Amino acid sequence: MALVVQKFGGTSVGNIERIQHVASRVVETLDAGHRVVVCVSAMSGETNALVELATQAAGDDEPEPREFDALVSTGEQKTIALLSMAIHRLGRRARSFTGAQMGMLTDSAHTRARILSIDTDRLRKVLDAGIICVIAGFQGVDEDDNITTLGRGGSDTSAVAVACALEADVCEIYTDVDGVYTADPRIVSGARKLSRIAFDEMLELSSAGAKVLQIRSVKFAKRYGVPIHVRSSFEPDEGTWVVPEEDVMERLVVSGVTCNVNEAKIHVKKVPDQPGIAAQLFTPLGESNIVVDMIVQNLSSEGTTDMTFTVPRSDHRRALELARKVGGELGAESVEGDEDVAKVSIVGLGMKDHAGVATKMFSVFAAEGINIQLISTSEIKISVVIEEKYAELAVRALHAAFVEEGAAAPSFE
Ligand code: ADP
Ligand code: ASP
Ligand code: MG
Repeated sequence: MALVVQKFGGTSVGNIERIQHVASRVVETLDAGHRVVVCVSAMSGETNALVELATQAAGDDEPEPREFDALVSTGEQKTIALLSMAIHRLGRRARSFTGAQMGMLTDSAHTRARILSIDTDRLRKVLDAGIICVIAGFQGVDEDDNITTLGRGGSDTSAVAVACALEADVCEIYTDVDGVYTADPRIVSGARKLSRIAFDEMLELSSAGAKVLQIRSVKFAKRYGVPIHVRSSFEPDEGTWVVPEEDVMERLVVSGVTCNVNEAKIHVKKVPDQPGIAAQLFTPLGESNIVVDMIVQNLSSEGTTDMTFTVPRSDHRRALELARKVGGELGAESVEGDEDVAKVSIVGLGMKDHAGVATKMFSVFAAEGINIQLISTSEIKISVVIEEKYAELAVRALHAAFVEEGAAAPSFE
């Protein structure tokens, strides 16, 4: 008997028929002799509609974060009740749990809270009684019982965190694609499904914008060694296993090409080139929970330097205000923001063993006439920032060069 956590995304629970379909899949797993926790998202479109309502209610201001979370978390609360009812209809027992009811304790960073602990005793008791636990993704509570949410796509993280806490055998992520592909299949028709991908590759792909898994879910799975199986809600076939590196057979030079159009760029011009400047600039951003992604500092000239960095687009306004304030104090010539950007990345474990990957990537951009604004690299990823309108073209061109014409891989070192 295994303990299985199954997560169903918004499209998979998008209407009552689909919820009924999910109920039968869950019941199949129960009837096969397993204990089942099901984690669900809000019905598709629901969270966006709630965000829109909040924006309308707040007018010119940002919605107050505590109330924003109280509102947007209601989408998942609807789904847990509906799915539990659909399971009852099939003659099996199920019990719904909000974040608070399952003891999903988070910090107080509204709209992007981090999970601190989960009260597994409550879930275990119900599971031991042969009852299916239907838990709300995306939400938790802080120590003062304020409702918090985990950021867009956060139900993946709820599911994997519960799987880790319960030491589940697997966390199955059911979604509207049948696995993790070499690129978003909606952008690249020739993308191919990977049978396995390493935790580190998936981490890089998620951070680079492949929204199939929220990055924090992959971090949890890696830390606790719980395998994730990404698969289709609608087809029975095996999907993609996200596993430790040693369990991946194929070390592809490029296993994924992805883009992120949810970032903004901030350019701080001519700040004094002295020790401590970067710390002064980035400390207020960190204190405001704004995650800075790429950072590039130009070579200094005449005692000053330029700093350019990217932040999530949803934080752009706040980040720009903070950067302008500090920039002013530091004597910067100007601080400008730009939302017309996209980050395009290639990821692959095999990059560790190959030379010339970056050169080949830059040649692809040159051939397409796309200007590169920023570049950053890690051992298994290269990212560039370009103008947003070229994002999909760039993904297709890189996929063609690195995956479809894989044989023309750069030479071995
Ligand atoms: P859910 O609502 O089930 O959480 P999401 O919309 O969050 O689903 O994530 C699934 C989507 O991720 C797919 O529909 C696909 O368009 C997108 N996606 C982006 N990159 C990839 C990739 N490399 N492989 C598979 N899907 C991807
Ligand atoms: N409903 C939330 C969202 O749309 C969480 C999730 O679906 O993972 O972002
Ligand atoms: Mg998602």
